[in-house]
Amino acid sequence: MREVEVSEITKEIAELCQEANFELGEDVINAFKDGLENDESPTAKAILEQLLENAKIAREDRVPMCQDTGFTVIFVELGQEVKLVGGDLEEAINEGVRQGYKEGYLRKSIVSHPLKRENTGDNTPAVIHTKIVPGDKIKITVAPKGGGSENMSEVRMMKPADGVEGVKDFVIERVKESGPNPCPPIVVGVGIGGTFEKCAYLAKKALLRPIGDESPHEDIAQLEKELLEEVNKLGIGPQGLGGRTTVLDVNVEIYGAHIASLPVAVNINCHAARHKETII
Ligand code: SF4
Repeated sequence: MREVEVSEITKEIAELCQEANFELGEDVINAFKDGLENDESPTAKAILEQLLENAKIAREDRVPMCQDTGFTVIFVELGQEVKLVGGDLEEAINEGVRQGYKEGYLRKSIVSHPLKRENTGDNTPAVIHTKIVPGDKIKITVAPKGGGSENMSEVRMMKPADGVEGVKDFVIERVKESGPNPCPPIVVGVGIGGTFEKCAYLAKKALLRPIGDESPHEDIAQLEKELLEEVNKLGIGPQGLGGRTTVLDVNVEIYGAHIASLPVAVNINCHAARHKETII
């Protein structure tokens, strides 16, 4: 067994929280540039230029790219040959969030009780997804998630007879109804199959894939392509002010389903499509 001190995880998470908020991925930046080249709307072009400038300032000055620095969603892939020592994993992760948001002067957006709504003051608790995997490494992904785009997401328990056309209609309807609210251009994560909670997890996980990445399943890759074309015909455009650059990518993840069910989740990410990862 390989021993890893949980304090190492705390340190990495503190850094990733800041990196994710300061440095937009090159894939997203390149997608903005593609939009700038291909969108015919002058307003869309002007907004995309501003988004590129905003990302540049955030990276160079180490300031958050958006005032909403998100709910800290963390994916941990924990090698089964790792022995964690020196404390509790969940506490170590939350301590990393606490330190990262304090050191980086990132906005603290989390309330401890969803109805009483008192801010915890340190952006904890994080939402943590832990998966045990083969090997002796730990992969950590930090994905701060903005409230505006999260609020536009939905899980629907569809009927198996709704089929692929039903799924397409649902995704297109969700993007259309979201309009300007999730700060487009957006990334659309779709989870199909599993159970109620599994498809929501898949949709969130789909947002971690790089822009331009295709599903390894031929039919699903085709579905992603068709959905991307359809949603970009809606004319919502950057910041909802018109144009063709509404959605940068549609990523679909699938899982086995019960014979009676077709759960589908759509999780929308805004143009601040943030995630950073490391391997310990
Ligand atoms: S949806 Fe995204 S870009 Fe819009 S305010 Fe929230 S974090 Fe910022």
